[in-house]
Amino acid sequence: MLRDNFAKDVIDTLSKRVACRCSNPDCHRITAGPNSDAGSWVNIGVAAHITSAAPGGPRYDPIITSEQRRAIHNGIWLCQSCAKLVDSDVDKYTVEVLQGWKALAEAETEQLLVSGRTPAPMGAAIAVSQPIFIGTLAFCIVGDRRLPMVPIDEPTLDPTFYCSGCVSRIIVQSLIPLQTVVIQAFGAQVRSFEPVPQYRQEYGAYPTAISLYNLEFDDPQKAGADRFIAQRYYSVKKEGRATEETFQPVAIDPILPETFDIRLSPKSPGLYVLRVFALTSVGACVAEQDIINELEIVVPPSNVYCPNSYL
Ligand SMILES: [Zn+2]
Repeated sequence: MLRDNFAKDVIDTLSKRVACRCSNPDCHRITAGPNSDAGSWVNIGVAAHITSAAPGGPRYDPIITSEQRRAIHNGIWLCQSCAKLVDSDVDKYTVEVLQGWKALAEAETEQLLVSGRTPAPMGAAIAVSQPIFIGTLAFCIVGDRRLPMVPIDEPTLDPTFYCSGCVSRIIVQSLIPLQTVVIQAFGAQVRSFEPVPQYRQEYGAYPTAISLYNLEFDDPQKAGADRFIAQRYYSVKKEGRATEETFQPVAIDPILPETFDIRLSPKSPGLYVLRVFALTSVGACVAEQDIINELEIVVPPSNVYCPNSYL
């Protein structure tokens, strides 16, 4: 079968644009080194196709031309094991994930090349909206405030219909035209935590059905930390069912804003004041956004069915 292989100069350029290191952010191993023959060297890197070189291959895209398939934009430099990995699980290692890895690795390499060290934080490259609650089982009245009330997470619940979760939506947009922005993580910082206050329950459900990031968090005193990162991601398949997967950095559209839903999964009861944030990498800079306002949620004890008993 005819394969749209990369030309030698494309392979060479791909490897050098990341200083011969694997572009998987969890790997980053070097792929070139000395051979025992003093006049030679060893390569364990691969110029991998983002969309496959031939029909039926991983992430094959029939729409693009042969020329585009062979072009440098369709390549990413990986070590041999990461190249095998990304072709063995195409649902997890999508085109967007690989483009994100590539952008991140090249940006980091550029930064290392220019300054010789890892960059300082910079926050001006990306805009992150204030989070809004879009899905929650119930509200409650605490004093004169109306707050979302979140049950302790129910692991068996299908997250594609998450009206009993507490889901916060944020909108992320690149501020640098045409530059790929990589979201490295979503997280939340617990700004304050108190025991469950007196409250009165109200009902109101807003179910939606899209993919979302699952963010588990706990009382900071119990957890020993006040910052929590979403480790898992729900991917909604064709049948409409969600599968939970490990979070991978994702590249967002360089022009249009993108929407992300973060399911807040408390592990212990209390009144939480949270700040949701996005860790991003633009020009190899990791920026924690400061423009997000605080969110308050109440988490009742799981054994309390009738919250009116608090009144
Ligand atoms: Zn690797």
